[in-house]
Amino acid sequence: MAGLVIPAHLGPARRTCRQCRHHGVEGMDIVCRRFPPQVTVVLVPRGAPRAGQLAPQPFATFPPVVPEHVCGEFSAGAAGR
Ligand code: SF4
Repeated sequence: MAGLVIPAHLGPARRTCRQCRHHGVEGMDIVCRRFPPQVTVVLVPRGAPRAGQLAPQPFATFPPVVPEHVCGEFSAGAAGR
């Protein structure tokens, strides 16, 4: 994911997703829960008796982030996670 990442040689950043209270862990991903999930609609094949037709299937996901991202919505409070 594109984003501003603090290079390691500049030292530890203190306002990154890792320290933000809005970050969450979903399986192997770190996601941002600052705003509601983003909805994507995928067309999937239907079963009988409507085989050959497509049906809309919505998915709602929080956007993935990496721990070193910084952004203007940072909010302190995740220390110790
Ligand atoms: S720093 Fe920004 S992108 Fe990262 S978890 Fe917090 S609100 Fe989300």
